[in-house]
Amino acid sequence: MSDRESELLASVPDRLFIGGTWRPAEGGRTLAVRDPATGAVLREIADASPADGTAALDAAVDAFPAWAATPARERGEILRRAFDLVQARKEDIALLMTLEMGKPLAEARGEVVYGGEFLRWFSEEAPRVGGRYGANPEGTGRMIVSQHPVGPCYLITPWNFPLAMATRKIAPALAAGCTVVVKPAELTPLTTLLFVQLLEEAGLPAGVVNVLTTSASGEVSEPIIRDPRLRKLSFTGSTPVGRRLLEQAAGGVLRTSMELGGNAPFLVFDDADLDKAVDGAMAAKFRNIGQACTAANRFLVHRSVADEFARRVTERVKAFRIGRGTEEGVTIGPLIDQRAVDKASTLVGDALAKGATLETGGSAIEGAGTFYEPTVLSGVAEGSDILREEIFGPVLAIVPFDDEDDAVRLANDTEYGLVSYVYTESLARGQRMIERLETGMMGLNIGVVSNAAAPFGGWKQSGLGREGGAEGIHEYLQTKYTLTQNPFG
Ligand code: NAP
Repeated sequence: MSDRESELLASVPDRLFIGGTWRPAEGGRTLAVRDPATGAVLREIADASPADGTAALDAAVDAFPAWAATPARERGEILRRAFDLVQARKEDIALLMTLEMGKPLAEARGEVVYGGEFLRWFSEEAPRVGGRYGANPEGTGRMIVSQHPVGPCYLITPWNFPLAMATRKIAPALAAGCTVVVKPAELTPLTTLLFVQLLEEAGLPAGVVNVLTTSASGEVSEPIIRDPRLRKLSFTGSTPVGRRLLEQAAGGVLRTSMELGGNAPFLVFDDADLDKAVDGAMAAKFRNIGQACTAANRFLVHRSVADEFARRVTERVKAFRIGRGTEEGVTIGPLIDQRAVDKASTLVGDALAKGATLETGGSAIEGAGTFYEPTVLSGVAEGSDILREEIFGPVLAIVPFDDEDDAVRLANDTEYGLVSYVYTESLARGQRMIERLETGMMGLNIGVVSNAAAPFGGWKQSGLGREGGAEGIHEYLQTKYTLTQNPFG
């Protein structure tokens, strides 16, 4: 580990942040955060208990009335200062993400830009929460529609985008006037801790944001979710965990936002610009080492161009450089843990057994760290597990199709509906795909759709609600309608 890495790691808070105070976990318990590229321990940090969870919720509940009453402009200005601080610390945040999550440094820098943008966007949205005033149709009264913060929120984030998944929830919640308890994933909590230190520096009052790091996410979360003082649960993670949390939230009829798993189809039609499609495929598949909810999971390619597409993507994949994300020129880092490597191996094994052709890759890499070779499979048969399950790894699976109806049938044949990618030079066909594909987002001749100004979210079992855009703040607001008399009698 370099001196710079050691210094940075030593500067990251190692405690829980509750009620404006950095404090150890109950009983002084700690957990180890590791570098997936080497297996080395990066830092020991506080490991929260259920009692710590209750203390964090207490703090969020206590801080709520004053924060809700803080003028929206003031809340926005704190977010804007946080945005500036994130820009100023871009290199540190990026390095920290690479160390704990494994993504190449260039991608981590990209996430700082993307994740930081939610702070700027919602700093601007805070004072723009509107309302309505109008006459009722009978003319006897006046109808006022106003928006109010929902209250204390519990925010659960995954490990794959440690900064962006946190800012995408925290920024709109704070802009709306809500207080929060944030629980990052056990595998990548350091980025959240550093980010919350920046929020503190930006002038955020005590108790508005509280952070729980824990190795016992289920035990710590359930009492918080079942606590009647909690008013909102926002979760990003896998669909199975999301389902379980929805059941817990049902008891209190809790407001929920769920950003869940995906199984994105990537359609390449015979009229596609193949150069564009190959560039898009690289971004949609290999960004974040394939560990994105938006990662293209199934490449559905018209039979007439399938061989050429396979040849070109294989050529590009063979040129990747695999290694620790901090090393210059590395384009593919490690997977997050051994479970992820085993999953990729199993899915590739199943696809090959069912008749797929291995174009390149196909194996775990021996040695320190949890690496899997970037892989291309062609001729993947319907019924292969890899077409049903989220791969969450650097494996590109190609399925040929014969016509547009066939492509749409294959694309929609999944319980998920987060995002789809379509490559065609035909405007009419592109428009038909907007109508026919069952996904909450679509990239038309483009391989990355994420943007703070856009409503991110899925259809079907990919989730509930939207993050970002004009919609994002409304996840943290509740509507009140008031009827008053016509002032003229
Ligand atoms: P995960 O296992 O569902 O975990 C997500 C978060 O939930 C983590 O903080 C995890 O903490 C926590 N968690 C796990 N079990 C819990 C429980 N019983 N109660 C409360 N919290 C619990 O998902 P992941 O492996 O971290 O992330 C990958 C998944 O997230 C993929 O399915 C991906 O598609 C999805 N994702 C979706 C979006 C989106 O916007 N739609 C974005 C990114 C990722 P611990 O890990 O510490 O247990």
